[in-house]
Amino acid sequence: MSLFRCPICNAPLTVEDRTYRCQTGHCYDMAKEGYTHLLPVQHKHSQNPGDDKAMVRSRRAFLTKDYYAPLRRTLEELARHHTPAKGAVLDSGCGEGYYTAAISRALQDSGIPHRLAAVDISKEAVRLTAKALHGCGESAVASVYHLPVADESIDFLLNCFSPLAIDEFRRVVKPGGHFAYVVPAAEHLWQMKEVLYDHPYPNEVKRTPYEGFRYVDVLEVRDTITLESQEDIFALFQMTPYSWKTPEEGVHRLRKLTTLTTEIAFHIHLFEKE
Ligand SMILES: [Zn+2]
Repeated sequence: MSLFRCPICNAPLTVEDRTYRCQTGHCYDMAKEGYTHLLPVQHKHSQNPGDDKAMVRSRRAFLTKDYYAPLRRTLEELARHHTPAKGAVLDSGCGEGYYTAAISRALQDSGIPHRLAAVDISKEAVRLTAKALHGCGESAVASVYHLPVADESIDFLLNCFSPLAIDEFRRVVKPGGHFAYVVPAAEHLWQMKEVLYDHPYPNEVKRTPYEGFRYVDVLEVRDTITLESQEDIFALFQMTPYSWKTPEEGVHRLRKLTTLTTEIAFHIHLFEKE
């Protein structure tokens, strides 16, 4: 049985001959990479919503070089710790699937039988996620504000640099299940911001409690990384929100660099569903 539900009638879906079907008769074909579209037209607000091909590809180019390995390893550890045997994992806003695939491998390597699903609004991102998962999990183009999964069905939910759909997370996480919310910490990419801006600001750091969840912890992950090529520097820039709000002079300064050493810093807010 799939972790996904029919986005139209909310009934369980079964998979047969690479097609998801609900008992009402709605059906959703799998693309050749293994993902499916669970985005009803009323939840789709543009032709190609979400991150475009270029953004998704720079993120893939950057992340596969493992510069964010410390964050990846911490998320693997959290998933191992909070996924019970036969548990269910959901990556909400999975991007191109770097963390999704890492978690899937970590759970397999630890011998934890599980089901895993990933959703993102960007088709290109989900296509790459499906390829990265090698069939060890499901992936769908879907809105995180209308997650195509059942109430209280998820043991571990990951939301890494993606929209916080807290009402949906409250609905889908099981009581006692966990939700990990990854955000940049104050000094994340500080040295890159010093190149881009005359007066860089640290990221805002806050602790927001959410109704229905108990605050377990805020984990901090930090490291210093050195990017050794303009290609890597620009790929990192393109996966940040700075890529659409930096003045031209800043981008020009960044374009001239062939090496950049910068701090990376993340906060993982961990919650338990009450
Ligand atoms: Zn249906």
